[in-house]
Amino acid sequence: MTEICGNFIDGKTVPAHASETTPVFNPSRGEVIAETPVCGDEDAHCAVLAAREAFPGWAATPPNDRCRILFRYHQLLESNFEALARQVVREHGKTFEEACGDVRRGIDVVEMACGIPSLLTGQHLDNVARAVDGTVTRQPIGVCAGITPFNFPAMVPMWMFPLALACGNTFVLKPSPKVPLTAIRLAELAAAAGLPHGVFNVIHGGKEVVDVLLRHPDVAAISFVGSTRIAKCIYETGAANGKRVQAAGGAKNHMIVMPDADMDATVSAIMGAAFGCTGQRCMAGSVAVAVGDIGDLLLERLSASAAALRIGPTDQDDSVAMGPMIDSSARDRVLHYLDLGVEEGAVLAVDGRNLVPRSGCGFFVGPSIFDHVKPGMRIARDEIFGPVLSLMRAPSLDDAIITANRSPYGNGAVIFTGDGAMAGKFAREVQSGMVGINVGVPAPMALFPFSGWNQSFFGDLHVQGQEGIQFFTRARVVLTRWGAGRKRGTWS
Ligand code: NAD
Repeated sequence: MTEICGNFIDGKTVPAHASETTPVFNPSRGEVIAETPVCGDEDAHCAVLAAREAFPGWAATPPNDRCRILFRYHQLLESNFEALARQVVREHGKTFEEACGDVRRGIDVVEMACGIPSLLTGQHLDNVARAVDGTVTRQPIGVCAGITPFNFPAMVPMWMFPLALACGNTFVLKPSPKVPLTAIRLAELAAAAGLPHGVFNVIHGGKEVVDVLLRHPDVAAISFVGSTRIAKCIYETGAANGKRVQAAGGAKNHMIVMPDADMDATVSAIMGAAFGCTGQRCMAGSVAVAVGDIGDLLLERLSASAAALRIGPTDQDDSVAMGPMIDSSARDRVLHYLDLGVEEGAVLAVDGRNLVPRSGCGFFVGPSIFDHVKPGMRIARDEIFGPVLSLMRAPSLDDAIITANRSPYGNGAVIFTGDGAMAGKFAREVQSGMVGINVGVPAPMALFPFSGWNQSFFGDLHVQGQEGIQFFTRARVVLTRWGAGRKRGTWS
């Protein structure tokens, strides 16, 4: 019998009320390692009730005391760092190095949250009107819910709950049913750090349980990260139910290569951006646009590097460079796009089907590169979310920017060049919220917002950074007058 994951409610792991489950795989082996319960109304209500009851006490806890618990949490995350990363490898299939990055970027947010006493200080204006003082404080908003994707089992949940908790809110996390185990471990460690019962809860499932959270009168805010179709729906439904919502969606990130780019550094950066995490990243570089006559050389260099990548099971070999897809349907989606690209007339210069490891039954597909991709093709437009790079050609930087700006998404856009003026023009004109200049994956660190634009984000305030703190708090303005006759400087 495989283990059925429990929910984490009111400070302890409890069995779900659900009768159905979905499998959790070790994608390196294709084996089922656990079952995720498909929770609904009853479990969602229990989790929200626990969070609602814990809210007044936690909101009234001084920020310094909240932050001491977060410091202990930070210590526990560090001492369990390798075990957490191994858990990510086991249920997600990314390489150990990628899993370490996943956990590290999450811990970065906890570090930022540890600074909450200074980050939450408000504003004050003495004598805002005659004998009246004005003060603005940031107040917690209540029970916040987070709904997260499979591709960063540690980092994406930690984009949300550490800041939400530091600001005095309580939280219900609904992780991806494909990777429930890391989320439960994060909650257990938070409880071990001394977080009061009910402040942080985890419930499992998919649409059924999300629908309850979106409409629940006791949920004040929804943080969502996932695909664009669901992000838009979450934003609309959450807003229609009176909640504040931040909803990050999918992407199609373009990388422009200028003829003067440092070729070694550029090839290495594109390889990392296109094939890192097996292309299952919202910041994956999935389109390279070669400007001028650099295309043939770029293709030759990328093809050689792709053919040399070591692909294989990640759970027993830390030196593997690229792991499997999350499940068989994700792998089949990639295979479908490989057929589609050929039908559309692109040249499949590197076919990942030939680079699959022979041993094992994991969900593997190797890195693929399409050449001569044209803007109207679906492989140029759709988020494939796998290790597939499309190479396009453009006569000038202007044309390359037009190509990038045709995408409805707006997460990342990158230029490789030695020319500062070209880089500046690109950064000003490209329609993306996160821009890299000679940086393959311009993902912001915890202090900055994860700033997607267009169809890559729905809402006003992004996760992380100061925007995260604003999202998880609301302003209270207090105007004070003591005594009608009070005059400045005369307190007697
Ligand atoms: P997904 O949209 O399928 O699922 C995300 C979450 O939504 C999961 O918790 C899932 O259970 C839930 N969900 C799925 N269908 C739902 C429905 N109909 N109603 C309500 N909830 C539903 O995404 P995924 O496949 O887990 O993750 C990959 C996607 O996430 C990619 O599109 C990727 O670009 C995106 N992503 C975006 C960012 C970002 O910051 N923009 C970061 C990571 C991943």
